[in-house]
Amino acid sequence: MKVAIIGAGLAGVSLAWHLRVSGCDVTLFDHNGIAGGASGIAPGLMHPYPGEQGLRSFLATEGMAATKELLAVAQSFSQEPLCADPGILRFINDDQREQFLAHEKKHHDVEFHRDDLVFIRSGMTVFSERYVRSLWKAAEQLGARLERKKIEDLQQLHDCDHIVIAAGSGIHHFPEAKDLKVSFLKGQILTCAIPDNCNLPTEAIIGKGYIAHAEDPKYCYVGSTYERGVTCSMPNRDVAVAQILPKIAQFYPEIHSFPVVDCRAAFRVMRTGHYYPMAGRLKDSIWVCTAMGSRGLLYHALLARLMTEALLHDDASRIPLAFDLKVLKN
Ligand SMILES: Cc1cc2nc3c(=O)[nH]c(=O)nc-3n(C[C@H](O)[C@H](O)[C@H](O)COP(=O)(O)OP(=O)(O)OC[C@H]3O[C@@H](n4cnc5c(N)ncnc54)[C@H](O)[C@@H]3O)c2cc1C
Repeated sequence: MKVAIIGAGLAGVSLAWHLRVSGCDVTLFDHNGIAGGASGIAPGLMHPYPGEQGLRSFLATEGMAATKELLAVAQSFSQEPLCADPGILRFINDDQREQFLAHEKKHHDVEFHRDDLVFIRSGMTVFSERYVRSLWKAAEQLGARLERKKIEDLQQLHDCDHIVIAAGSGIHHFPEAKDLKVSFLKGQILTCAIPDNCNLPTEAIIGKGYIAHAEDPKYCYVGSTYERGVTCSMPNRDVAVAQILPKIAQFYPEIHSFPVVDCRAAFRVMRTGHYYPMAGRLKDSIWVCTAMGSRGLLYHALLARLMTEALLHDDASRIPLAFDLKVLKN
């Protein structure tokens, strides 16, 4: 079975790997190369309790397990570590405390350090760009191919049995996907140098905003912005500094002594009205995997496995209904 995947981010590369393992003929198309979109700038926080309310995400156990499985595959293609120290510290407020007490009892992956600070043992910081590149090496070694070109029209891929649009925010370019209920949220992230002798914990810290360790231990990523209604994808350092640093200073005031050395930006794709990602058949042989929002690390590997099953059996019902595309019918 010949499959074309548009987009070489977390969604596309993980799908390429799964499909190749299942024996499909896989070509990935991306004019920006591997991890050239949002997946290349995400600081890679992954844990089961993202979101303001601190609820456990749908299929979080399965999502994290699927990601860890792919991390192990990718790690064997990288000399360098793909993750920072395990665990994530999260500041919580009065409203979230009940939730986290319940998680502590039920899932045993949360420890209270203080009334307002928990340690999420199952949390991880994945070096996202390095991970996607290493996973690609694994897929490539199995025989997957990359073509560095932009797909302007799905007709270009007419000789494939299936086409999967995993184009991140590039999805808006495809008229076939125009009825998907998705929105785009610009996110900017700062890279800061960590001063000598500072007391930054070795784990990532989440409050309103977050600090995550970078691949190079001399730096950290500080994020992020959530800019609605913005169409320019270029980083705007002044906006990023003004929006991010005051949030971080609320729980880590020392951030003001960290020199900002870089600013990067990308768009998150969000399902309108819910955080569930979207994976399924758009029409005939055209499939979509998108809308992972801020949960790309949590969901990409699970979705790739489910999509592979669905494609192999030509049966979209193998994907849980929660991930349905809910395309508006004309
Ligand atoms: C600032 C920021 C911080 C984030 N932090 C986290 C985090 O800590 N943890 C987490 O889990 N998630 C995080 N996310 C979300 C995460 O980055 C995304 O969920 C994930 O990267 C989406 O992956 P993707 O493969 O769908 O899209 P992308 O990574 O954007 O990949 C899409 C690819 O498609 C290509 N493409 C587009 N159009 C075409 C076309 N016509 N032809 C060919 N190729 C095309 C692009 O070049 C791109 O490489 C963050 C996002 C942002 C913006």
